[in-house]
Amino acid sequence: PLCKTSDVSKPRYVRVNTLKMDTESAFLELSKHYVVHKDEMVPDLLKLPPGTDLHQHPLILCGTIFMQGRASSMVAVGLWPKPGWWVLDACSAPGNKTVHLAALMKGKGKIIACELDEQRVKRLEATVRLAGATNVKVKHEDFLKLNPEDPCYSKIQAILLDPSCSGSGTAIDRLDHLLPSYTAGLDDNTNSDRLRKLAAFQKKALEHAFSFPAVERIVYSTCSIHQIENEDVIKSLLPLAASYGFQLATVIPQWPRRGLPVLDGSQHLLRTDLIEDGEGFFIALFTRKADHNRVET
Ligand code: SAM
Repeated sequence: PLCKTSDVSKPRYVRVNTLKMDTESAFLELSKHYVVHKDEMVPDLLKLPPGTDLHQHPLILCGTIFMQGRASSMVAVGLWPKPGWWVLDACSAPGNKTVHLAALMKGKGKIIACELDEQRVKRLEATVRLAGATNVKVKHEDFLKLNPEDPCYSKIQAILLDPSCSGSGTAIDRLDHLLPSYTAGLDDNTNSDRLRKLAAFQKKALEHAFSFPAVERIVYSTCSIHQIENEDVIKSLLPLAASYGFQLATVIPQWPRRGLPVLDGSQHLLRTDLIEDGEGFFIALFTRKADHNRVET
């Protein structure tokens, strides 16, 4: 059974929005009132003591820093698009990773942020505005229906795919609704049916990402602890990935916790642990050379 993670015992992480302030200045500003450490794994991420409440902090309110967990912050870092690239954030609301991409790209190049849900599009637009990420174009669209050959998308060089998932690796408020069924085993069929449906969508979305002609890097991520949404999705699509010229590459090589050893190349995958790291995330990175010879299917 899943354990509840104690939210109050977890360090608070904030990501500095380098579009608005450099990390050193934010560090010094926050250090006036808090004990602050720079994270060793993720650039521009600062760690504050458990229980620090920053909701009303001026730097939060003006989008200079964002409350974003460590694992969540590893996703855009894993993709690491170059300034000037064309990037597609396939499933993007509320936009935390979108604006992180914009910061990594120093506001240069273009990010298309796609989101299916109308209400969530509004949250995405608000995040983009707050961050001052002027190179982001929000699209209220179904990612699965985007035409990769359309001139809008045919130049896309990197895709961040963070599709809907069970959320089983995130904070207690998201776990709460799952806990009774997991712990009491009351509704295993409903849960496994839900996971199968999510996995089917996740596979479809990753298949679609492979078909964009100029893409060199794809990151696939979930905040799920379930193999069916993580390693199984990657394993089932390895042959298709190879047919498009993609191979797995190691996400943040210095991170020690890797994928479950259920496929060749699991050492390339990244996991964070719900208990040890406070969040259960999964990240996979596919790369191919810019001058790849695409095999037509
Ligand atoms: N990357 C986001 C962030 O870090 O802020 C979180 C993304 S959330 C896990 C997944 C999002 O995908 C949801 O907002 C959901 O509405 C959206 N979504 C689901 N199916 C989609 C589709 N077919 N096309 C585009 N967006 C979709």
